[in-house]
Amino acid sequence: MSDSFDVIIIGGGPAGSTCATVLADHGRNVLVIERMNYPRFHIGESLIPETYWVFKRIGMLEKMKRSRFVRKYSVKFANAQGKESAPFYFDERDPRENSQTWQVLRSEFDKMMLENAVEHGAQVWQPAHVIDVLLEPSSSHRLPRVRGVIVERDGEQWPIYAPVVVDATGTSAMLSRRFNIRQPDPGLHKAAVFAHYQGAIRDPGERDEGAILIVAVHNERGWFWFIPLPNDMVSIGVVADIDYLIKGRGKPEQVLEEELGKCPALQPRLAPARRVSPVHVLNDFSYNSKVCAGDGWVLIGDAFTFLDPMYSSGVFLALKSGEAAADAIHAALDAQDCSAARLSAWGDSFYDGVQVIRKMVYAFYSPGFSFGKFIRANPDRKNNVTEVLIGDVFRPEVHELFKPMGQMCTLPESMKLEGSDARPQPRETPCRNSDD
Ligand SMILES: Cc1cc2nc3c(=O)[nH]c(=O)nc-3n(C[C@H](O)[C@H](O)[C@H](O)COP(=O)(O)OP(=O)(O)OC[C@H]3O[C@@H](n4cnc5c(N)ncnc54)[C@H](O)[C@@H]3O)c2cc1C
Repeated sequence: MSDSFDVIIIGGGPAGSTCATVLADHGRNVLVIERMNYPRFHIGESLIPETYWVFKRIGMLEKMKRSRFVRKYSVKFANAQGKESAPFYFDERDPRENSQTWQVLRSEFDKMMLENAVEHGAQVWQPAHVIDVLLEPSSSHRLPRVRGVIVERDGEQWPIYAPVVVDATGTSAMLSRRFNIRQPDPGLHKAAVFAHYQGAIRDPGERDEGAILIVAVHNERGWFWFIPLPNDMVSIGVVADIDYLIKGRGKPEQVLEEELGKCPALQPRLAPARRVSPVHVLNDFSYNSKVCAGDGWVLIGDAFTFLDPMYSSGVFLALKSGEAAADAIHAALDAQDCSAARLSAWGDSFYDGVQVIRKMVYAFYSPGFSFGKFIRANPDRKNNVTEVLIGDVFRPEVHELFKPMGQMCTLPESMKLEGSDARPQPRETPCRNSDD
């Protein structure tokens, strides 16, 4: 077995698989190390339309079209009283080839993505566990250079080396925790409780049956998701302040039942359904890292940044960062310069897009704000909201939406939406390392 590669990627989730596929297409000798056997359960089932372009580039599009994943054409919101908004159809503004996306079973989707990386020439070691990274002082940067990793497989441990190591470990965020550069979003101390149900009532008709429904919780301190999945299953989850959802409450099963019992929008939909999975809990999942790369290392997907999952942006951002980082790594290897400055070349524009979604999240949590109300007051802005829901967020002008939206929000100073140049906290976060 070889002990050196052009690139080592830790983690074979959507971010790692995408990065590996693009690098393999560039002709790079790339290794992915994934600790779990697939298929395995993972949350993050609702995709957004802009994933289309990455799927197309990495050869996944036809596989998605042939898959049994549920087709998703729109997003719907409901208030705490159960009043549902009209759907935000992705093709309403401008029907395009990517106006439809999918609701996926991550156990199947992640396996397809990793197998696709192998088809493109990436090597995958699975199950194999990266237990440590090999560091040396950096001559130009306050954070160390990464030279390789220690991998454990079949009870044996050994070092392997590469000029670039990519952290795609998801919320384990191996490198940012190690370097102490991970910072939680101060405005979003949330938890999620979720499970799969079978037999729930969906909206009728091909165009509507796959819609994701986002419902405000009764005290407006959080929201539910209702995501139709294959095999007559739906994913149901509730996200709310940790203090409200977790502290002093009973077992997760009880919390989910209590919350659903107070949700007029979901009660009728779930009346004929039964829970078919354990109830899972995750908390404090919104954070980002101060930098997206250092000398010889790059952070992608959730290992770099993760936002409240309200707009189903996680997999999209994992795909986009995996793709963008792969191109930057390829250019850095060509230039024989794997410095922080080169490896973070993609970070600023990527992070600007993350900020657009962050502002939409902050707006949702603003007391009294609702998208229904916002669109009634600003009908000309419906297309701009849909643009963000699609994932069309990497254009500076998208920030314009937040001028009128900010006027309808009551938010603490650190979460203000303000104008197009506003950068809600935490945005001292530099994505480039040159001034670090
Ligand atoms: C409650 C909740 C709901 C969500 N809902 C949605 C949604 O509807 N839509 C959406 O798009 N996103 C959603 N997300 C976000 C989505 O799950 C993530 O953004 C996405 O999975 C990120 O992909 P990734 O590849 O970065 O990380 P992951 O998918 O987590 O993959 C990381 C991989 O790294 C492996 N790994 C970790 N450490 C090591 C190690 N040391 N050695 C080897 N392998 C390792 C893990 O086994 C894992 O397979 C949700 C998240 C939460 C918390």
